[in-house]
Amino acid sequence: MESGPKQLHIFFFPHLAHGHMIPTIDMARLFARQHGVKATIICTPLNFPLFSKVMERDSQHGIEISIRIVKFPSIEAGLPEGCENLGSTTSPEMFNNFYKALGLLQQPLEELLEECRPNCLVADVMFPWATEVASKFGIPRLIFHGTSYFAFCVFHSLRCYEPLNKLSEFESFIVPGIPDQIKMTKSQQPNYFRRADDELTKLTNLSVQSEQTSYGVLVNSFNELEPAYSEHYRKFIVKKAWSIGPVSLCNKDIEDKALRGNIASIDEYECLSWLELNKPNSVLYICFGSKFVFPESQLLEIAKGLEAAGKHFIWVMKDEEIINNQERLLEGFEKRVDGKGLMIRGWAPQALILDHQAIGGFMTHCGWNSVLESVTNGVPMITWPLYAEQFYNEKLVTDVLKIGVSVGAQECSRSIDAKKFILKKEDIERYVNRLMVGEEAEEMRSKAKALKEIAKKAVEEGGSSNSNLNALLEELRSL
Ligand code: UDP
Repeated sequence: MESGPKQLHIFFFPHLAHGHMIPTIDMARLFARQHGVKATIICTPLNFPLFSKVMERDSQHGIEISIRIVKFPSIEAGLPEGCENLGSTTSPEMFNNFYKALGLLQQPLEELLEECRPNCLVADVMFPWATEVASKFGIPRLIFHGTSYFAFCVFHSLRCYEPLNKLSEFESFIVPGIPDQIKMTKSQQPNYFRRADDELTKLTNLSVQSEQTSYGVLVNSFNELEPAYSEHYRKFIVKKAWSIGPVSLCNKDIEDKALRGNIASIDEYECLSWLELNKPNSVLYICFGSKFVFPESQLLEIAKGLEAAGKHFIWVMKDEEIINNQERLLEGFEKRVDGKGLMIRGWAPQALILDHQAIGGFMTHCGWNSVLESVTNGVPMITWPLYAEQFYNEKLVTDVLKIGVSVGAQECSRSIDAKKFILKKEDIERYVNRLMVGEEAEEMRSKAKALKEIAKKAVEEGGSSNSNLNALLEELRSL
């Protein structure tokens, strides 16, 4: 009797931040649901509830996906108890200690590998030591980066050619040695390029080395989205890289989309009913990712700008923004925009919202997941990058794909205090109108819609990402 292909058991070990956990969980589900892999996700006690419901649903459908919980060494790393997610850090010191804590997860990982003996470890780029741990058990370690090829190519170019050394903060330069002419400033570069002596910088240096020693890299992108950059990456940076995205497309039904990442602060059907009242492409969705909290001064300008533009919108505000800025500031605003605007306080079911035909634009901070989700749903963007590699993702959207309008942000920083750049009401009004109506808007929208179709095909049977994943799994089985 012929036996089927060997079942692989793969461990997924995400960085403990929403922007990394969400795509890793999507990835594990994609491997398990569509490719028969037995998937185990490693997680900590307080992060588990963020996706326990999704796991429950999958298990009920007979999908082999499980969770192993490891204790997070908060106290050992000088963090308050309960701080287990990067989003809960509230000061540079906590941020730094958080990365120290990640380094202490090596031992628990080893113990789990010893016990379960999986065939492969997919570990986040923030765990550079995972390559060595995997090799102790004779298994390959794949890196999950969680951003675009484009962002890597820019990052590696700046490391290699060091064009920033001689520049003043706001002087512009062309990123050397990449396929397109991309103009940036030094002020738009992450802390890493300021020779910061912090844990994240140390980790980034180690992870660059581990790129070379690991089995390969998994990229949440698809070849057709950034072909010149996926080629450049394979040619000059890491030879073995598999594009397997957009992984968010594994969320097929309303429940899947509504439960993704966290418990939404709005009932999914209430949100959908509100969207149903709006014409196709008429609503602007505004959300700045899972972590960033704007100061009151900026929130007020956004509110005034939205009101002046007069377009329908959904605006997601963080709990901290509401607490810091007293409800009353928004009360008058909400009354005035009643019927036109829907405010979500806390966590929005973003995957569900972007998928709705009423959404015609997305004002985003350019976290890679948000950019990719926008592309996947054919939605053009107003790009307002804030920190990390978001300024690179912005350039991909505006200069390469040409499906976005930039607000011209300059300062790459997580700290609100460091941001002197405040976008005024008039600018917001202007960018909203530019994205939502007119010829330029139509052009961007039709380009985005074309990408949506290509993205969908990429993950279907025979599509590029689907074939890449099949080839990878075949290779892993043969090891
Ligand atoms: N997200 C969401 N609801 C929110 C805020 C964020 O579903 O209210 C999801 C979003 O869909 C994306 C992820 O959280 O998948 C955020 O990742 P991204 O890379 O865009 O930004 P980050 O939060 O890492 O800065």
